Amino acid sequence: MSNISILQQYPEYEVNIGIEVHVQLNTKTKIFCTCANEVAQQPNTNICPICAGYPGVLPVLNEQVVNSAILAGLGTQSEITPVSIFARKHYFYPDLPKGYQITQHTEPICTEGKVNIRLEDGSTKAIRLIRIHIEEDAGKNIHSPFSNESFVDLNRAGTPLLETVTYPDISSAYEAKEYLKNLRSIMMYLGICSGNMEDGAFRADTNISVRKKTAKELGTRCELKNINSFKFIGDAIEYEIERQITTLEEGGMIVQQTRLWDEKNRKTIIMRSKEEAADYRYFPDPDLPLIEVTKAKIEQMKEQLPELPEQKVKRLVSDNGLSLYEADIIVNDIELANYYDRAAKINSSKQVLNWILRDVLGYLKESKENLLEFKVTPEKLAGLITLLETGKINNHAAREVFEEVAKTGKEPVDIVKEKGLEQIGSSEELEIIIKAIIDENPDVVQKYKAGNERLFGFFVGEAMKRTKGKGSPNVIQDLLKKYLK
Ligand code: ZN
Ligand code: MN
Repeated sequence: MSNISILQQYPEYEVNIGIEVHVQLNTKTKIFCTCANEVAQQPNTNICPICAGYPGVLPVLNEQVVNSAILAGLGTQSEITPVSIFARKHYFYPDLPKGYQITQHTEPICTEGKVNIRLEDGSTKAIRLIRIHIEEDAGKNIHSPFSNESFVDLNRAGTPLLETVTYPDISSAYEAKEYLKNLRSIMMYLGICSGNMEDGAFRADTNISVRKKTAKELGTRCELKNINSFKFIGDAIEYEIERQITTLEEGGMIVQQTRLWDEKNRKTIIMRSKEEAADYRYFPDPDLPLIEVTKAKIEQMKEQLPELPEQKVKRLVSDNGLSLYEADIIVNDIELANYYDRAAKINSSKQVLNWILRDVLGYLKESKENLLEFKVTPEKLAGLITLLETGKINNHAAREVFEEVAKTGKEPVDIVKEKGLEQIGSSEELEIIIKAIIDENPDVVQKYKAGNERLFGFFVGEAMKRTKGKGSPNVIQDLLKKYLK
């Protein structure tokens, strides 16, 4: 079941998807108090009267949150609003002791941004952002599986969030996944979010509707909530597109609902039906000042902008000669991108990429280590490749050195010395060995000369054996061709 087949079956339909993402900021402290903004082991330990919602306390805005929001705006080509305001969004829920969430309503800090994605045919599509606004997170309700009790943990209350909202520009599960991957990369490159989806640091709510291409209004939408992997989001969207088109084709109606993805049964299920938009009675929060962002402030933040994923892909393609495909693999993972950059700065040959894609990723997959604790640092990898390229060691030895560095963290040069892996590249030394092989195997030489060219491999193998794998393959081949003429 895939939406490609359903859309091929019903080409008169199109899909409209809008996505809201809550990006959890990695500031040191919470948004309106000095409590640590970190995951705590015990419930209700990172709390104080402000984030616990005591009456009579006053919030104080964390400047780092505003800076992060400006960076997010610049990283998504958004307009930065000169004066934006906080609002109270009222609703009652046990994990929200104040009875309202502090958020932004009419004047969000960023508007009209865009995130570029690459389509399957290689072309670029801009997904437009309606807004990015700042808000606080609520706490968590925990329902005991053992008793008929529920608990409230306020550790997460007051965690700063950026809510990023797109126009319904996304038209397939593929585009949705690309958008989410790119947005997450941007936030991670900006250094403002851990990107950790399992911990809920990057949470997507997806609104999906379908309509006939001739229709003027968008179709009734359903919202997919709380899905914490790109793959599941993609699968859920594909299921939902098929469900909606099939329902309409059978003469049914789409009811506005919030739905969940049931991975076990691979379908979306209803969580709640949505009535009219709730009346949150938004009004400006009287406890907080306006957020003023001056032009000078924006300029100052621009100087802090790092190289972003899209620029990095362009640079790796144009300056380093990577293919788009290779650049995507490197850039999609910020740690891998940093690793590559550090190695490529020391050794600019294409070998660096080959070794990373083949040996580094292969080794890490096998050993289940992660790149940050990997003993073959980018500097050591570059050094190893230089030894190989200058002919100090051959390919065979390079592999051995790589394994040894990965296990011990020693310098490649030291391992080469310790293990006596220097390549025998001097013609004089190799010449003696090759002459001996030829003298000792007159029958093989005769067969080779009679036309059995495959026997060339016998001589190469023999030479490698006698040099204990340290002979330079190029020099050996040249010498054999010379003496076997
Ligand atoms: Zn607090
Ligand atoms: Mn929100």
